[in-house]
Amino acid sequence: MLAYAYWLLRSGITTFPVPQDLGSFIQLLFITGVLLATATIFGMFFIYPLIRTQVQEEGKLRAMTETLSARSESLQHAALTDSLTGMQNRRFFDDALREYLQEFRRIEKPVGLMVLDLDHFKQVNDTHGHDVGDEVLRAVARCLKDLTRYHDVVARMGGEEFAIVAPNMNNQSLVKLAERIRRAVDALTIESSNVNIRVTISVGLSIWNGRESAEEFYRRADKMLYEAKRLGRNRVCA
Ligand code: GH3
Ligand code: MG
Ligand code: MG
Repeated sequence: MLAYAYWLLRSGITTFPVPQDLGSFIQLLFITGVLLATATIFGMFFIYPLIRTQVQEEGKLRAMTETLSARSESLQHAALTDSLTGMQNRRFFDDALREYLQEFRRIEKPVGLMVLDLDHFKQVNDTHGHDVGDEVLRAVARCLKDLTRYHDVVARMGGEEFAIVAPNMNNQSLVKLAERIRRAVDALTIESSNVNIRVTISVGLSIWNGRESAEEFYRRADKMLYEAKRLGRNRVCA
């Protein structure tokens, strides 16, 4: 029919849009109908399924990309977060400290650093068990988060050791903050399995001298922590 319609189109009809005699007009209508029907059938059976498949595949690809990027985000988040306390981990902290120092070298403002370690924490585990020890770590982490500012970086460095970078803080205000944290941990009572547990924390402080590397800066605060332990624990050394 398509060939016939084409043949008709090639042969008789010369007047357009409306032929003069009725026969030619009917022929033109017939040709148009056949061509339209052919186009519709072609579209329905060939083009529409093609488009549908393509749309479905695109949808699948988009869903896959979204899943992958969500997974990579959550992996990235997991890589920088301490799973026990939900606070930032050592890896995040090391990068953040380096970045803060770079920035503060430029604007010439002080940066404070605190290294904190729970006292005789092994005894807590030995006496009450590891799960209770974990509960204590979570409570101390919450306490540190509550007492620091939004832009301070608070991290669990491993075990029962934490660190805080406090930008824009001089020696005096850093000592005050550390004392507040020490007293708050001292006042904490962690209730677990019908026992009340009390812990204390020792803190070492340093203020960046503007030249030293992040590692040197951390080592200096760590030495102060060691000093706080040596002097009897539950104290701040700057
Ligand atoms: P010090 O006052 O000298 O710091 O003594 P300490 O007992 O706190 O220090 P030590 O390094 O001897 O022991 C640390 C303990 O912390 C040993 C380990 O069992 C415990 N610990 C480390 N990581 C975890 C943890 O994720 N959960 C629990 N519950 N305990 C942990
Ligand atoms: Mg300890
Ligand atoms: Mg320790």
